[in-house]
Amino acid sequence: MIRVLVWNEFMHEKDEDNKASSIYPDGIHNYIAGFLGKEEDIEVSTATLDDENCGITKERLENTDVIIWWGHCGHHKVPDEVAVLVQEAVLNGMGAIFLHSAHKSKPFMRLMGTSCSLTWRESDDLERVWVNVPSHPIAQGIGRYFELPGEETYGEPFGIPTPDELIFTGWFEGGEVFRSGCTWTRDNGRVFYFQPGHETYPTYKNPDVQKIILNAVRWCNPVIRIPDAMDCPCLPRVHSFNK
Ligand code: ZN
Repeated sequence: MIRVLVWNEFMHEKDEDNKASSIYPDGIHNYIAGFLGKEEDIEVSTATLDDENCGITKERLENTDVIIWWGHCGHHKVPDEVAVLVQEAVLNGMGAIFLHSAHKSKPFMRLMGTSCSLTWRESDDLERVWVNVPSHPIAQGIGRYFELPGEETYGEPFGIPTPDELIFTGWFEGGEVFRSGCTWTRDNGRVFYFQPGHETYPTYKNPDVQKIILNAVRWCNPVIRIPDAMDCPCLPRVHSFNK
């Protein structure tokens, strides 16, 4: 079984004035957990900002194969220590999938080490997501491209390290293009960033989007989990914080 933890800040969906509350009344995390949980090889759980320590502990991550992260306006509410736990688990081999506005989440920024900034517009643009690497496991079952009738427009420059592989390119009818599906390896862990998923559109109900997230879970499933060979109190594992 692949043990998946879907993490979501769960803020927009609880705001009755936000469209997200009617599209995902139980939250984006539960929606994603719902379609992934139908797979025989996947065991799924969820966590949000409302849980103690964001529902993240070292032990829980040791028992997680792949974490999926959705966040937007609550990035700053995630304690730095939680971001470090996620980063360290990925270095040990845990897979991580960052969706949409999670490009500015603390765990993603720590794993990338760059600004992770981008340009954006909210203008109801159609997005056409092109498959650049049809042989990649994450692109299986997707045609040459698929379309989302409405998405938030994300544009370059995207402040990420050059991806190991650029699986998808998003084109928006306003003219922007964006590196919409990127992979990296960080020590032993596989990382996938996937751009679609603004909370006011039913993007996660799209069958191609669901297929890509499912493919990404299987691709990110750890090959190996190993502790840091230089784990020693006098040698910080990753950059930590001055308290
Ligand atoms: Zn958004």
